[in-house]
Amino acid sequence: MEQYEELLAAIQPAQGGREIRDVATGEVIGRAPVEGVDQLEAAIARTTAAQPGWDAVGHAERSRLLHAAADAVEQHAEALARLLSREQGKPLDGPNARFEVGACSAWLRASADTVLEPQLLVDDESGRAEQHFRALGLVAAIGPWNWPMMIAVWQFAPALRMGNAVIVKPSEYTPLSVLALVHVVNSVLPDGVLEAISGDREVSAALAAHPAVAKVMFTGSTRTGSSIIRSSADTIKRLTLELGGNDAGIVLEDADPAAIAEDLFWGAFINTGQTCAALKRLYVHNAVYDAVVRELTAVAARIPMGPGLEEGNLLGPVQNQAQFEIVQRLVESAKASGATIASGGTPLGGTFFPITIVTDIADDSELVQQEQFGPVLPVIRYDDVEDAVAMANAASVGLGASVWSSDRERALQVASRLEAGTVWVNSHGGLHPMVPFGGVKQSGYGLEFGVEGLKAVSASQIIRS
Ligand code: NAD
Repeated sequence: MEQYEELLAAIQPAQGGREIRDVATGEVIGRAPVEGVDQLEAAIARTTAAQPGWDAVGHAERSRLLHAAADAVEQHAEALARLLSREQGKPLDGPNARFEVGACSAWLRASADTVLEPQLLVDDESGRAEQHFRALGLVAAIGPWNWPMMIAVWQFAPALRMGNAVIVKPSEYTPLSVLALVHVVNSVLPDGVLEAISGDREVSAALAAHPAVAKVMFTGSTRTGSSIIRSSADTIKRLTLELGGNDAGIVLEDADPAAIAEDLFWGAFINTGQTCAALKRLYVHNAVYDAVVRELTAVAARIPMGPGLEEGNLLGPVQNQAQFEIVQRLVESAKASGATIASGGTPLGGTFFPITIVTDIADDSELVQQEQFGPVLPVIRYDDVEDAVAMANAASVGLGASVWSSDRERALQVASRLEAGTVWVNSHGGLHPMVPFGGVKQSGYGLEFGVEGLKAVSASQIIRS
């Protein structure tokens, strides 16, 4: 508790700011600074002044400091997880708050250990050509509210590793957890290399458009992504855009419903469904449809939902009222269209919405076509796998997808035909710090993680000699 109170005291403004409440209980947790363009300009001045020195210290020192940052996160893990749980709503246990803080240190260490060496391209009678990877300068890291700390690390750790300075802009729904994380990481970094600006959408837009920013790493909605593309045009900024998804899963007729039910469940409902690359529409062959629905609803019935700080809960509330209303509207529209609510369907109070499995639903219904981003899964029946592939690929977005089958070769063949940045077989959503992640179509462009992720936050320079 002592560390928790210390962290909160360190990140709150001396006066004013916006009240942030525990999502589950409504209790005030603390106040977040609401900074404007003056504070943004000051942060830009500090980071641009610090960046050349940071670049000059070299990879070995930056790598050492990123490991030290991971140590600091681990030393504050429980306090960070408590704050995240209260502010975001996700429980402490399961693939939630403690897991997210663990991922922060894992991704910091992966950025520290990944190596992007200069490459010798040509060395012959025509001369010598080498490709080097230089720092870009100042990187803006703009994030969402669903996995706020982990996504902030995904953005700032590789950027720092490559010698860039970074300004992080957390979502206005979850500023405290990200400010606390940046505070802890900054206990080991030189001044001015990593800064956070906490404010509303206007300050975020000003950061994204600022001429001093060389690159914007953005994770959030497709609509905001479009706006960032427009504002990047004047100064030709580099962009990595991880945007919305509407991931499809296809269960083939030879899948074993009992064996896959638990993984299907977590593929859809990790973080109470508020995950970019979660299963958001499930196409199930007629031969196993009823059994899959029965097994899925049985898992749903035994996974506890409740306030995050109560140990044992594995699902929490929807993070904010606006998202809760989207979820509720889509469920009501599915009901009105004649679909069956196989489990859940009725709000539980506050922004708690039960795990809701919707069956006998048409593919053209709103709940299937729009990203629900909450604890609801439409299950669509199909007879011919060609139809399932066509329906999966009809979306304008393509972040992830999955194929579920007892026949690996057949699953791989279907997987190769799906339009998505990642396709999983018999699982959905698992990520690894060395495996590139990114979307196709309107889910964005650019890759994160591993060597590709380091390339994305550097400028290629060819030296010919
Ligand atoms: P959002 O786009 O509303 O907000 C994201 C961030 O952008 C916030 O920090 C916000 O302040 C800022 N912002 C808003 N308007 C801006 C503007 N005009 N210019 C610059 N910044 C602006 O998204 P959200 O509601 O926080 O997140 C949910 C969405 O994010 C979902 O669609 C989800 O699928 C997507 N998401 C994608 C990934 C991924 O990796 N692809 C991961 C998590 C979430």
